Amino acid sequence: ERMITTQLTTEDEQVEASLRPRYLNEYIGQSHTKETLHIFIEAAKQRKEALDHVLLYGPPGLGKTTLSAIIANELGVNLQTTSGPAIERPGDLAAILTNLQQGDVLFIDEIHRLHRSVEEVLYPAMEDFALDIVIGKGPSARSVRLDLPPFTLVGATTRAGALSSPLRDRFGVVCRLDYYSVDDLTKIVYRSAEILGVEIHGNGAEEIALRSRGTPRVVIRLLKRVRDYVQVKGDGIITEEMAKEALEILQVDKLGLDQVDHKLLMSIMEKFQGGPVGLDTIAAMIGEESQTVEDVYEPYLLQIGFLQRTPRGRVVTANCYKHFGLEMPS
Ligand code: ADP
Repeated sequence: ERMITTQLTTEDEQVEASLRPRYLNEYIGQSHTKETLHIFIEAAKQRKEALDHVLLYGPPGLGKTTLSAIIANELGVNLQTTSGPAIERPGDLAAILTNLQQGDVLFIDEIHRLHRSVEEVLYPAMEDFALDIVIGKGPSARSVRLDLPPFTLVGATTRAGALSSPLRDRFGVVCRLDYYSVDDLTKIVYRSAEILGVEIHGNGAEEIALRSRGTPRVVIRLLKRVRDYVQVKGDGIITEEMAKEALEILQVDKLGLDQVDHKLLMSIMEKFQGGPVGLDTIAAMIGEESQTVEDVYEPYLLQIGFLQRTPRGRVVTANCYKHFGLEMPS
């Protein structure tokens, strides 16, 4: 398993639960999103109404699930959590919706993966807080409308573009989460280290933050691995030197790139003179699905300007050649 994967692992889940910020003021970074949510949450509370539906989008591990729980906490309501692929039939969604109480937050992760038939149940639920149910079969079938309590849907997606427009249009608040700055990630390291009871000196926290691909999930995972390392090889205190040593052993380089990134980029440079190469070819080279390459591997490589998407395929940039100390073909 990749050390720097932004996807959730079982181990992450246990640790993350204890490190999750519970209120907006504990949530580090993303100041624009925080400000937006703060205003809408306060307004909804003052009017004693349900908050407008919220769509959160951005790469995995940036804090979408965390924000959904924060929204519920700030509103002082219950949180129901599910995901697009988990809701198989319209009836499954109907069951979830009829269990909601006034003002509750329903979080649907990976909302772009909802089945079409399920999505259609969601439209009237979001717009009119109503559920249309068909009773009976054949000529005697009739549709009955059930009222639902006003609720807030919080949808999360890594690909806002994959959402159908009728669904996207029903969200009143849309927030894009960006990769975190090294400064903000450093703050997350300090905050997490305190909760985990680890001491960090000097630039130890910055060193971990630098290699975390702008992603809180990764920064937390690297912190845990470095903690293990200093516990066994040192005196339990994380210093810049010890953090460097540990991350060297974990094969996470200065930019947070690991062996899979290296393989992906090196193959394009060595076998295709830097590209363009099609997504499917890249996926085959590293033994992954195209969708995973596009959603999980590529965004960070695009963000740091090592890879570019062109109509004819992916192209490696001059910066990337420089990082690997290679000559760029003319
Ligand atoms: P996503 O749902 O976008 O994949 P999560 O909400 O599961 O991401 O975030 C991953 C972990 O990173 C969380 O458990 C949390 O501990 C941490 N985290 C995310 N955002 C922040 C933040 N802004 N401040 C502090 N910790 C954060």
